[in-house]
Amino acid sequence: MNNENLSQDVVTTNDEPPPSTEEPASKTQASSIPAAIPQPRTNPKWNDWRWQIRNRIRTFNDLIEFFPSLRANTGISRVAEKYPMAITPYYASLIKSTDLSDPVYQMAVPQGQELFAPDFLHADPLEEEEDMPVPGLVHRYRDRALLMATTMCSMYCRHCTRKRVAGYQESCIGVPQLEAITNYLRAHPEIKDVIISGGDPLTMSTSLLERILAAVRSVTSVDIIRLGTRVPVVLPQRITTELTTMLSKYHPVWINTHFNHPNEITPEAIAACAKLANAGLPIGNQTVLLRGINDSPQVMEELCRGLVKMRVRPYYLFQCDLVRGVEHFRTPISRGIEIMEYLRGRLSGLAIPTYVVDTPHGGGKIPVLPNYIISSSPSHTVLRNFEGMIVNYPEPMEPMPRVPPSTSARSGSHGVWEVAAGHSSSITPSGTHRQKRRAARKLQRGEAAQTHPEFNLLLESLMSEGGG
Ligand SMILES: *Cc1c(COP(=O)(O)O)cnc(C)c1O
Ligand code: SF4
Repeated sequence: MNNENLSQDVVTTNDEPPPSTEEPASKTQASSIPAAIPQPRTNPKWNDWRWQIRNRIRTFNDLIEFFPSLRANTGISRVAEKYPMAITPYYASLIKSTDLSDPVYQMAVPQGQELFAPDFLHADPLEEEEDMPVPGLVHRYRDRALLMATTMCSMYCRHCTRKRVAGYQESCIGVPQLEAITNYLRAHPEIKDVIISGGDPLTMSTSLLERILAAVRSVTSVDIIRLGTRVPVVLPQRITTELTTMLSKYHPVWINTHFNHPNEITPEAIAACAKLANAGLPIGNQTVLLRGINDSPQVMEELCRGLVKMRVRPYYLFQCDLVRGVEHFRTPISRGIEIMEYLRGRLSGLAIPTYVVDTPHGGGKIPVLPNYIISSSPSHTVLRNFEGMIVNYPEPMEPMPRVPPSTSARSGSHGVWEVAAGHSSSITPSGTHRQKRRAARKLQRGEAAQTHPEFNLLLESLMSEGGG
């Protein structure tokens, strides 16, 4: 690979300059024109995705030109200064009313509450930066890694988990960074699944994206490539035959998209998903549970039904992360459990997502379900179904043989499974006062190599911290 910067490529492949953030004087007069559907769909360039990107709503002035009724809402520009705004004309056209009753409005237009920053909210609650062995690659789960290809999205979701990166500076990874990532993947053959994410990788030019796919595909230990993208929802025009033809050269490639509400399922979105599916790209969906948008069992049912109809498999339902700027979108976890209770029994398993809480401090995704196990004994497990019927499942007459302890325990892979299988007898937190005191006493008794140069320093710090 040469030393050319990938991010320059994205600029040179644009056939027109990026939209100006300056408001031309003549346009400010437009506010006297009554509210209408923004940028009429009859515009000859409507179906050109680059036109959609160039004409995104980026400033308060752009916004009130589309929606003059928002003129009095001057707080919007203050929020947009902190968290960038971008709305494609297409997505803006899905806004039916400019108030909080409209889910698309809520997901796209900044609100004053985004500036509310209680101290339990963080810029990077999942601690992704801590799990980055090389810039732009998050390696948290043994067999999977997440590649942040760009910081740009076509629409900046107000509820974004990566508010800290999305949109501040619209740029994509450069050649040296891609090379470092590829080298890391080669050195870690346990990584079988690479998720190309961002930002939104489908905002990149097809040729640029292809270079990333080709680089990842060149690592023979990688089995599958996934693309995380909201483009089918906010910029369906991007799903061109040129794109799907390119993607299908790197199979197996999977798509994960992000529909949150039935109002996003439009003829355009349906056509985009059909193109992807027809190119052999299986599509999963990741929904974020959002207060006042989709936190109702009926809305979620309608969404999931709509998704399977367009061959999109509901994959995850995410509890809203503890991200700074999204407090007004959070629901209690109980709301998610309530929704899962409702869906099971009403919908095919194919249409039911897994509800997960992506936990703070990099705890990762934890699935949460209503409790279905009522009780258990060695001979019976008592279960309940969605209707409340209680039934017992008689366990096998012959007890299960025990696996001999620790024969198959793999080093470096420790979890609750190892404890359950008898390979490990406990999982103990290391940071408690008691554990520190124990470690310090062990050191004092000379159970550690006292010749180690750092021994005394370590001992001192353990004693001062653990004393008490
Ligand atoms: C969610 C996530 C993955 C993928 O997880 P799956 O459960 O396989 O979809 C990988 N890496 C990171 C850092 C993630 O947050
Ligand atoms: S498309 Fe994804 S990364 Fe981009 S703003 Fe929306 S949630 Fe964030």
